[in-house]
Amino acid sequence: MSRVLALANQKGGVGKTTTAVNVSADLARRGRRILLIDLDPQGNATSSLGVDKHGVERSSYDVLIEGQPVVECLLEAVRPRLDLLAANASLAGAEVELVGVRNREFRLREALAEPRAVYDAIVIDCPPSLGLLTVNALTAADEVIIPIQCEYLALEGLMQLINTIDLVKRRLNPSLDILGVVMTMYDARTRLSAQVVHDVQRFFPTRMFRSVIPRTVRLAEAPSFGQTIFEYDAASRAAAAYTFLGGEVAARLGLASDESDKEVGA
Ligand code: ADP
Ligand code: MG
Repeated sequence: MSRVLALANQKGGVGKTTTAVNVSADLARRGRRILLIDLDPQGNATSSLGVDKHGVERSSYDVLIEGQPVVECLLEAVRPRLDLLAANASLAGAEVELVGVRNREFRLREALAEPRAVYDAIVIDCPPSLGLLTVNALTAADEVIIPIQCEYLALEGLMQLINTIDLVKRRLNPSLDILGVVMTMYDARTRLSAQVVHDVQRFFPTRMFRSVIPRTVRLAEAPSFGQTIFEYDAASRAAAAYTFLGGEVAARLGLASDESDKEVGA
């Protein structure tokens, strides 16, 4: 039975997609079977893996709105052990179209009933909003990872996100939990980054991942080559950071650690 994991934060540009893609890739490297779901109409997770989102015929839209089975819409083995339910432009209308759909908050949850039996983990990359797409992800998920950028006003909007998670937990999905908070784009040269980590730590004393993702141009470049950080620059600090995070996620999900983990060099 797989664990379903949503990457959520209604702010854009905080590292949701980068984290969804690279954690998925890392878990797959560890020998787990992973399904990555791109739930953002911008399709950044899709293109980050080198898939042309304009050429995607069936996407998460067809699952959510048309009620098609996930297995008939996904792209198999975009990497070893990693399948992708892509996004394309049609998803842009889904937020509005969902409003009139029966069981609108539960569409993704229902669609994942079968894939749950197949994968070790299903990772959902959410759009930068708290609309029905993100609500579908939170209703389908067992756990949320919240990426927070080490920037001024990092905590702004966080209460709104926490309230939404609480609301979904109370009304739609009682078993939803926060798996962890990961600090992204950390710049060791600035006092601001350290201060933001300190502030967020006070906000989430028990939930912080030990991994901190550095701000590095390698992570900004990799998607334009359609590559994960492990493909683009396996020796980089960023690859090491995402390997460490992947290990923490695997441990917290109870997917650690057997023989296959030992093959992954950090
Ligand atoms: P979100 O999905 O939350 O909008 P992204 O993961 O797409 O955020 O990241 C926003 C932008 O910042 C992208 O261009 C991405 O390549 C870049 N980026 C992400 N993480 C880092 C990092 N640690 N250092 C430098 N650039 C990053
Ligand atoms: Mg994104």
